[in-house]
Amino acid sequence: MPTGTSPQPTASTRIHSGKAAAMAAFHLAALFSPLFFTWEGFAVFLLLVVAGHLGIGLGYHRLICHRSYRAAWPLRSLFGLLGVLACMGGPLTWCAIHRLHHRHSDRDEDPQGSHRWFWWSHLLWTLVRQMPGLATPEDVRRVTRDLQRERALLLLERYAHAINVAFAVGLLGAGWVAAGWFLGVSLLLWGLFLRVVAGWHVTFLVNSINHHHGYRNYDTADNSRNCWWVALLTFGEGWHNNHHHQPRSAAHGHRWFEVDASYLLIRGLELAGLASDVVRPQHGPGQSARQQSNSITGSGFGARPTEFAGEEADPTTAVSSAKKGGS
Ligand SMILES: [Zn+2]
Ligand SMILES: [Zn+2]
Repeated sequence: MPTGTSPQPTASTRIHSGKAAAMAAFHLAALFSPLFFTWEGFAVFLLLVVAGHLGIGLGYHRLICHRSYRAAWPLRSLFGLLGVLACMGGPLTWCAIHRLHHRHSDRDEDPQGSHRWFWWSHLLWTLVRQMPGLATPEDVRRVTRDLQRERALLLLERYAHAINVAFAVGLLGAGWVAAGWFLGVSLLLWGLFLRVVAGWHVTFLVNSINHHHGYRNYDTADNSRNCWWVALLTFGEGWHNNHHHQPRSAAHGHRWFEVDASYLLIRGLELAGLASDVVRPQHGPGQSARQQSNSITGSGFGARPTEFAGEEADPTTAVSSAKKGGS
């Protein structure tokens, strides 16, 4: 059993039966949601879809994992809680997987296997018993040492499953008390099962699509790509080649047409005094993202970003030191 100071080279293909059963149960339950449609359930679905993005995109990804901006602990904890409710694991596990993805993108050490076939990088990697580089809880700690000091994150990590069970009971109970069992089941199916399954598949597109399809602004060392329709569905996360080039930039859209709703939200938080130290995209002296591009359709591999992984990252580092495309 690896205990590792270095990531393991290949993923286990053995499926974790508990994870597979949970995944199947969520999909099965989601299929029943049309039979229990209510406008209240639909409204809760939409509200929680937005909340889930705040938790994963603005919270787990840009705030906690990449430190693209700062927020006071109440907002940071709220975003962490919303991330937990997206049912993608606790914040430390999520960040560990994501940091290893950045470090080893498109190589066998990448936990998400972004270079592999569609269904593996989309979904199956989440079901394996052992991910590359993350064989033990110690491996998770190894790449999230900077996050270990935060009690709120540790609590969210520890009680992630319990929080979601309590939330499910709350949805069922609230509907039942308000208008009977039908609304209770409706809120549970639309507010939990269908919403979580939809959130999984939309988020997983960044793994399965954004390393295979789309264009490149930057000649990064991986095969990351920008895809407009994934960016639209994920509030800007689909500008993935830009993100791999400058992982700490709060803005993932670097060209005028690359709309990044998440960055607009972060700028809004900044204007409201709720976010600070927002890391701007760095285009280099006098250069725009377009000028740095070597080819928007190219598939070449360039320098691998030296940043990241929590055990050695310098929190004050502004952006990736990856070479600019075409340089
Ligand atoms: Zn990626
Ligand atoms: Zn990232």
